[in-house]
Amino acid sequence: MTRRHWAEECGVVGIAAVPGASELASLALHALQHRGQESAGITVADGHRLQTFKKMGLVADVFDEAVTRGLGGNYAIGHVRYSTSGSSNLLNAQPLQVASHRGTVSLAHNGNLVNAPELRRDMEIDGSIFSTTSDTEVILHMLARSGEPAWEDALAEILPRVKGAYSLVMLTRDKLIAARDPYGFRPLCLGRYRDSYVTASESCAFDIIGAEYLRDIEPGEMVILGPGELTSRRVGDTAPEKRCVFEHVYFSRPDSRVFGINVEQARRRSGEILGREAPAEADLVCAVPDSSNTAALGYATATGLPFELALIRNHYVGRTFISPAQKVRDMSVRIKFNPVAAVITGKRIVVVDDSIVRGTTMRKLVKIIRAAGAKEVHLRIASPPVTNPCYYGIDTPVRNELIASSHTVEEIATYLRVDSLAYLSLSGLLEATGEGDRYCDACFTGNYPVSFAEMSGKLVFDDHVAGAEIKVMPLAPGDESGVGK
Ligand code: AMP
Repeated sequence: MTRRHWAEECGVVGIAAVPGASELASLALHALQHRGQESAGITVADGHRLQTFKKMGLVADVFDEAVTRGLGGNYAIGHVRYSTSGSSNLLNAQPLQVASHRGTVSLAHNGNLVNAPELRRDMEIDGSIFSTTSDTEVILHMLARSGEPAWEDALAEILPRVKGAYSLVMLTRDKLIAARDPYGFRPLCLGRYRDSYVTASESCAFDIIGAEYLRDIEPGEMVILGPGELTSRRVGDTAPEKRCVFEHVYFSRPDSRVFGINVEQARRRSGEILGREAPAEADLVCAVPDSSNTAALGYATATGLPFELALIRNHYVGRTFISPAQKVRDMSVRIKFNPVAAVITGKRIVVVDDSIVRGTTMRKLVKIIRAAGAKEVHLRIASPPVTNPCYYGIDTPVRNELIASSHTVEEIATYLRVDSLAYLSLSGLLEATGEGDRYCDACFTGNYPVSFAEMSGKLVFDDHVAGAEIKVMPLAPGDESGVGK
């Protein structure tokens, strides 16, 4: 029986009432590429109809100038997607555009709905037929069933029944709607572009188009964006804010403002605190580029050790974690990082990384660094041990694949063959982000704010129920999904 994971990591953008919306959305997606590299898609609206273009691949490959310009429209939503489940196919690529009794609508979503399997099963028993394995489609089905005549009222009506993490953008023929779950797990910010509004997972998407960051869309807030207009309303239950702390550890770009906080500063503070908590007798500090550059700089400042570029990253291969098969991931560590022997040979080195998940990457990296002549390798991790899977949209592996779920720090140090290993404390991490009580730290503590059904250590749904016929779509060159053109 094949099982597919629901978890996805994604980035979303929305552009309201601006000529050339498709071009702006495409640029904004470029800035969010780090949030997902498997597929990219944009839906545009011009007041009359919606048009969606999406393909497997990187934004630059999917949206060349001709495609982007051809889309036109003055409203747009966009999405980049990543999933490790093997269910990576064009059918699951977003935005999802569908026709319904209320007209055509398109939806793109970042997060993970923990009750999607139950909601879906109920609707399937009731006669619904699903064509994707994405939980975004569950929201679309619920919208189609709502008795509310207006899209925004339908969304406000159904969202209280949806549990888990969602930062979503929805496009009708003349309106952009954006909403965040009441806990605010995943980020979503609001910006001004000329005399209208834009929204995106991270503020770096605003910088690239010259939009101004205004504020975050609040947890439990829905905004309806029209020409120069913003209407805000509350949706869903009230809940304690639970922002994903891993956005600051790893996922977001340092040049972004996420949850109203500058990622660079939070990450640098985490390195400084790590330096104070776990100094090392060493000659130099280096980062595992690029995700730990900022934390390593903070560590160097706090300890007074020189920061050196001891590892060079090949930017033309993706993040190692992002390769779906373990085999590919193993090989890509070597493809991705090369040590600078002149910096390393004969030196006692502190290597700072943002996190250890499975431990696969670091074990190989330590081997490479030692082979380049390092005398000692002291590993410092700018987050606590990852002991629990995430069910709210960061795709961490199942529990038994998380090295820290079943091994002590000493055992991990032995496995990685490092001379010493220390992790940042949870209090240190929360101090670095500020407003620590407003964060979800379930991956480090197992304190899950929203309960979920756990199957095989991972939230999954059963293909036999969902439709085992769903196969990877043939991807002929130029293949596209143009629903409702
Ligand atoms: P590993 O321990 O081999 O599973 O890989 C850990 C590395 O992957 C860390 O150094 C991070 O830079 C990166 N990483 C951590 N979490 C994620 C994630 N959810 N998605 C992609 N990469 C991640």
